[in-house]
Parts: sequence; C-alpha cells; structure tokens
Amino acid sequence: MKGIRSKGRDIVAVLALVLTLSGVILFAENLGTRNHYTKYTDAFFDTFDTVVTVVGYAKSREEFNAYFERIHSRFLELHKMFDIYNGYEGMNNLKTVNDNAGIAPVKVSKEIVDLILFSKQWYTATGGKTNIALGAMLRIWHDYRERGVDDPEHAELPPLEELAEAAKHSSIDNVIVDVHNNTVYLADKDMRLDVGAVAKGFATELVARELEAGGVTSVLMSAGGNIRAVGFPLDGNRRWWSVGIHDPRKPMFSTESNLLGVIHIGDGESVATSGGYQRYYLVNGKAYHHIIDPDTLMPANRYLSVTVRARGADVADFLSTTFFVLPYETGRELAKKLQGVDVVWVFPDGTVVSTPGIEQSIGIADGPDAKLR
Ligand code: ADP
Ligand code: MG
Repeated sequence: MKGIRSKGRDIVAVLALVLTLSGVILFAENLGTRNHYTKYTDAFFDTFDTVVTVVGYAKSREEFNAYFERIHSRFLELHKMFDIYNGYEGMNNLKTVNDNAGIAPVKVSKEIVDLILFSKQWYTATGGKTNIALGAMLRIWHDYRERGVDDPEHAELPPLEELAEAAKHSSIDNVIVDVHNNTVYLADKDMRLDVGAVAKGFATELVARELEAGGVTSVLMSAGGNIRAVGFPLDGNRRWWSVGIHDPRKPMFSTESNLLGVIHIGDGESVATSGGYQRYYLVNGKAYHHIIDPDTLMPANRYLSVTVRARGADVADFLSTTFFVLPYETGRELAKKLQGVDVVWVFPDGTVVSTPGIEQSIGIADGPDAKLR
C-alpha cells in the first residue's frame, strides 16, 4: 500500500516536472527560439505588379536571406516569362507568343508550357469561366482602365461591340501546345493570352516546390494575396499558419478589425482571394474592376470577394477567379465536386457564406442567410 502510494507520488512529481519543463519550453517557443529557430520577414515589390512577402523560420538571418534571395531571383525570372506586356532581350515570353498569333509556334520555357497546360486543364474542369485565351477582350478593359485611372475626368466604358468582337477570338482549343518541342502556337491571329488570373499563384507554387526540394522547411509566401505554406511555423506551438482574410467592406489596412476572419493552412496548402475592391476605375462614380464575366463581358458583380483554400497556390489562384465569376449555386456544386477545396463568398449586402471546412476554422456560418458571427 505504502509502496503504491509513494509510486503514485513519484508519478505526480515527474508529471509536475514535465509540466514545468514544458511550460518553460512553451515560453521559449513563444519567443520563437525553440530549436534556435527565429522568425524572419522580408518583401520585394518588383514582380507581377504586386508585393511578395516571405515569412520564414530559420536558424540565422543568413539562412533566411539565402532562400529569400533565391525566391526573389526566381520570381524575377518567372515574371519576365509570364509578362504579356513587355518583351525581354534574349528570351521568348508570353508577349512573344501573343505577337506570333496566327504566324508561328514559339519555342518557350518549360514553365510557360506547364502554365498553359495547367490553365487549359482547369478551364475544362471548372466550366470555362477562367479562360487565358480571353486576352484580346481583357486587353480592351485593361487599356480603358489604365486611361481611366490616369485621367478620371474622361474615364469611359469600353464599347460592348468592341468587347464582343474581341471575345470571338477566345477559343482555348486554338491555344496549341507541343510538349515535345516546348512550343506554343495561337492558331487565331486575333487571339491573345492573358494569364493574370493564374500567373501569380502558379509562380508561387513553383517556387514553393523548389524550396521544398532544396530542403527549406518553414516558409509562408504571399504573392499579392496568393498565399502558400511550406511546412509549418517552427515556433513549437502550431502545426498551421494563420492567414487573415481581408473584409472587402473595410479599408485595406491589415488591422485585426479589418479582417473577416482567420483561416488556418498547413503544409502545402494555399489561400487566394479575388475581389473587385483593389483594381478598378470609376466611370460616372461607379466602380468597374478587373475580373470579367465571359458571358456578359462586364465585371462580375455577384460578390465583393471570394476566398479559396486549396492544396497548391496555382489551384487556389485559378479557383478564386473562377468562383468569383460563377453563380453561387454552381460554385457551391463545384466546391463539393473538387475535394479539399473550401470557399468563402462575401456578397454585396455583406452576407458571408462558406463551405463547411472553413466554417470550422474561422467561425463563418454556413447557409445562404448566414451572417458573419
Ligand atoms: P488578382 O490578379 O487581382 O489577384 P485574379 O487572380 O482574380 O485577381 O485575376 C484577375 C486577372 O485575371 C485580371 O487582371 C485579368 O488579367 C484576368 N482575368 C479577368 N477576368 C478573367 C477571365 N474571365 N478569365 C481569365 N482571366 C481573367
Ligand atoms: Mg486568380
């Protein structure tokens, strides 16, 4: 009896010691120093017309800087490849492909071939609302928007006939990829590619996989809101990263009160948001943004924003644009069909609806009439 009791006391003592120790460890983890990992952050602004932010846990500033520089130089390369507006000395990029529409196949990098194959595949899988072959029509909106931003007094809408004429040249089947020779040919001289809906996420995914292959274990990258997790935060506390979703009805500062909620993502997962609140111009006081519904040839106006959580930044970026255009019921069906994809829809009246997976992680209720919290 006595023996048992003293054994019990020993166990309690050991437990207390373990708890005390783990308390110390937790404290140390909160400082981000467990296993000598420290959290570092840096950003660059010179690719894809946006800011790319990198958060990483590393053993030293030098270790972080080394992979940060690798990320930056890779993004610079990919930016040039996927650029549809500028050509670069000594390389064929997507502008070269566009300039050769109806003329000749263009030899391109494997990255460009993969981006186009990816976009064609997902176009087919998601009902064709995100179409990289819509470049000619999107270019018209782009030019009117640029002019309208530069000279707001004279801002105009593009004539619908002009948009409709350009949109005739958008058959994805005329984007011909030869995977053996790494060439792309636009078999319609009036067709142009626009990869704005997918390029940032595709680049982010590519770079993330390269980091993983290089042994990097704890990074969160964000390319203009296309977010990808590599591993998990090495703060010793969490197995996931916390990503705030901006509330499209609030100012763009990232304070907590301007957030709709927080989504958790684990290793390999991504979050992307498409919204009309950042890139737009005003015509007679009304805002016209940059995501165009191919059926109306006008900015999609069903939602203020749509956020997608999925595996892969390429998938999340493609899908956020797609769900932003799709009617809610169709989107809901698609989300169910695509396993492992979660969506948050923010309607113009402020209603917020999400799929069950996200509902659990950010507390947004499910159902068409549900309001946030
Ligand atoms: P952002 O680039 O602001 O993160 P998105 O990922 O939703 O937002 O992509 C928007 C871009 O996609 C536009 O700027 C345009 O280049 C392109 N785009 C707009 N509408 C379509 C569409 N229906 N199909 C394919 N690309 C589109
Ligand atoms: Mg997108």
